[in-house]
Amino acid sequence: MSAELLELTVGEALRRIDGGELSADEYADAYAEAAAEDELNAYLWTRESPFAREGDGTGRTEEPPLRGAPVAVKDLFCAEGIETTAGSRILEGYRPPYTATAVRRLEEAGARLLGKTNMDEFGMGSSTENSGYGPALNPWDRTRVPGGSSGGSAAAVRDRTAPWAIGTDTGGSIRQPAALCGVVGLKPTYGAISRYGMIAFASSLDQCGPLTRDVTDAALLLRAMEGRDGCDSTSVGIAGGIELPTREGLEGLRFGVPRELSAEAEGMEAGVAATFERALSTIRDLGGEVDECALPHSAHGLSAYYVLAPAEASANLARYDGVRYGLRADGEVELGAMYERTRSRGFGAEVKRRIMLGTYALSSGYYEAYYGRAQRVRTRIAADFASAFERFDYLLTPTSPTVAFELGARSDNPLAMYMADYCTVPMSLAGIPAISIPCGLAEPDGGGPELPVGLQIAAPAFTESGLLDAAYAVERALGLTATPPGAGP
Ligand code: GLN
Repeated sequence: MSAELLELTVGEALRRIDGGELSADEYADAYAEAAAEDELNAYLWTRESPFAREGDGTGRTEEPPLRGAPVAVKDLFCAEGIETTAGSRILEGYRPPYTATAVRRLEEAGARLLGKTNMDEFGMGSSTENSGYGPALNPWDRTRVPGGSSGGSAAAVRDRTAPWAIGTDTGGSIRQPAALCGVVGLKPTYGAISRYGMIAFASSLDQCGPLTRDVTDAALLLRAMEGRDGCDSTSVGIAGGIELPTREGLEGLRFGVPRELSAEAEGMEAGVAATFERALSTIRDLGGEVDECALPHSAHGLSAYYVLAPAEASANLARYDGVRYGLRADGEVELGAMYERTRSRGFGAEVKRRIMLGTYALSSGYYEAYYGRAQRVRTRIAADFASAFERFDYLLTPTSPTVAFELGARSDNPLAMYMADYCTVPMSLAGIPAISIPCGLAEPDGGGPELPVGLQIAAPAFTESGLLDAAYAVERALGLTATPPGAGP
């Protein structure tokens, strides 16, 4: 019974719960059991006891919309009283005194916290190998990475140890792991969901979003989380809220394919390119108009991102000093030495690299040359998108230039690792929403078993309902039911 339960999308499970065929507690407990047996190091924390029985002590009279469905949460979100590390040793043992707004909203909508998922330290990485607690593994092939930084969330959803999950995306950290694990991942418009209680990496880019089995589930989670929050002055919510997707055809919609982020993208694997081309034909078959377009500055997205994100990170991470949170290096030393020891012991190599890069880019003699210039590139990239959206409703690219790569393949080469974000960073810089949906399987370059490929669809700011509708139509037409070998019943 429970193996079949774990196959359901949350949307389907909610329908069964409403129809009286399934009890909310049975559904949640099946996942509590599955998460406790996680073999992919996808979780950093899972519940020790079963979920409370329905109605226990909550005093609720009306059924909340998510009906007690369990949700896995990236360890970047604070949850009151539950260890929250952001994948870093420097936060080991930190128990926040408050809960992130996104998580609180889910709880208010009736969801229950299933576990905290593994991630690259502070969200810095594309493979989850930068976690201070060991890498998460790809459910399709455990010798490969699940992507990152929300790799634990993506792996858990595909491996059926979570029905759905939330993650964060600064330059691709929801979309890229979703693509590499074969699930749906949505980065909403910057400002759609509150960042309050999300441990900061690069505050002008960080955004929370869903990782789910299908597009409808992504809409359900987004609908529960979006909205203005007085605790985050950059949050505005999505006017009109989120409609659940229903669209079947794509008649009347114009799709642009930016050549810089598809055919001309650096490091694009042949299998990914071919799978992407097949998805374009499906979109044409559905009545969508597909045409080439240009985003001339997007090729400079990565360079701008890897100045701006480290610059913001260097400021955000200054607070981890051994006094206020988590780890403190021991020993009888004076204050400055204690700071130094704590930071050198608590941070991993990638985090230290970013702090140094960011501090350098912001130093007085270089500020204009690096930070100022990167900001101007960011403005140009946003302008490119604005002019593309005068002609097109949506833009299409492969989510990642490659399928899941092998563990260790890029860990000694940060520049190769950064290339994983080539197609996702421009949307983050522009603040616009983008979704990755599974669009088929492809062999890696050099051969091997087939692995998931993601199709990225980007849209103008705050048009998530339309974006979800278009993605839903494509998802239905692709009819993907592929699941990792050896998994499931
Ligand atoms: N991989 C990118 C980085 O390392 C993006 C990470 C993210 O989106 N959090 O910065």
